[in-house]
Amino acid sequence: MRKPVTRFPFAAGTTNRFGRSSLGSLGHGFSATNSNTRITFPTLAAAQAAVVSAPVRAGNLGLNSDRLRDQMIQRLRNQGIQDDRVLDAMMAVPRHVFMDEGLASRAYEDAALPIGHGQTISQPWVVARMISVVCENRTPAKVLEVGAGCGYQSAVLAQFIKEVHAIERIRGLYELARYHLRSLKLISRVRLSFGDGMLGLPGVAPFDAIIVAAAGIKIPQALLEQLALGGRLIAPEGTSAQRLILIERIGVATWHREELESVRFVPLRAGIQS
Ligand code: SAH
Repeated sequence: MRKPVTRFPFAAGTTNRFGRSSLGSLGHGFSATNSNTRITFPTLAAAQAAVVSAPVRAGNLGLNSDRLRDQMIQRLRNQGIQDDRVLDAMMAVPRHVFMDEGLASRAYEDAALPIGHGQTISQPWVVARMISVVCENRTPAKVLEVGAGCGYQSAVLAQFIKEVHAIERIRGLYELARYHLRSLKLISRVRLSFGDGMLGLPGVAPFDAIIVAAAGIKIPQALLEQLALGGRLIAPEGTSAQRLILIERIGVATWHREELESVRFVPLRAGIQS
């Protein structure tokens, strides 16, 4: 099984040319605070940087990843993530497997990192927060993820959600996600589609929860309509200033809306890219 090639800011398999310091620039306009991350004040960012584990060589990561993942889980706990189902799921999924070898040594930092095609794998805190919010006081049975990217969040969801559906609009990333999920023997647990997630999956709806991993100006109405009664959707909303929005469907034509943290996500785009 060959890993699909991604259009990457540096040659696959090379040492990370962006350096190994924790929150430095990632090139191509990415930084730890502009792509699928929470916006934090400098003091908090500095504190987070200080607890980032010592750099390791990507080749040794297999041996060290349990310890690094454990540190990531402790950090998430310190940042207020309390749901053990989510923390256990993130402990179980090897995040470094989802990235290019050149960035694998940074996989357990609290940062979004490039995955090719101008997209990023979401910051661990963002993944943990979004899943925790839609799972608060419930275990959704059927979940839709819009924007599968490299497949990491789907793999985390599949650890404790019975039915996970995920959509990706960029063919190269859809194939990459399929490759990663297959390598981890999760491909039968995640129903992955190539398509425009703004349309949802009308043939599969209703969903108990929908997680949108890219930011639009407005949350697409089609997704709100595909929520089950009592179901929850979380999505970043906005352009330059973005916030995580939590929606709960409280009636056939009534949705309750709550604004959560300031974030910065890659854009939600209509249509597909082959
Ligand atoms: N969930 C990923 C995050 C990937 S970044 C993770 O686990 O880290 C967000 C992804 O959303 C990108 O891959 C982007 O291509 C995708 N995306 C943007 N608009 C989309 C749309 N309309 N439908 C499906 N995917 C979309």
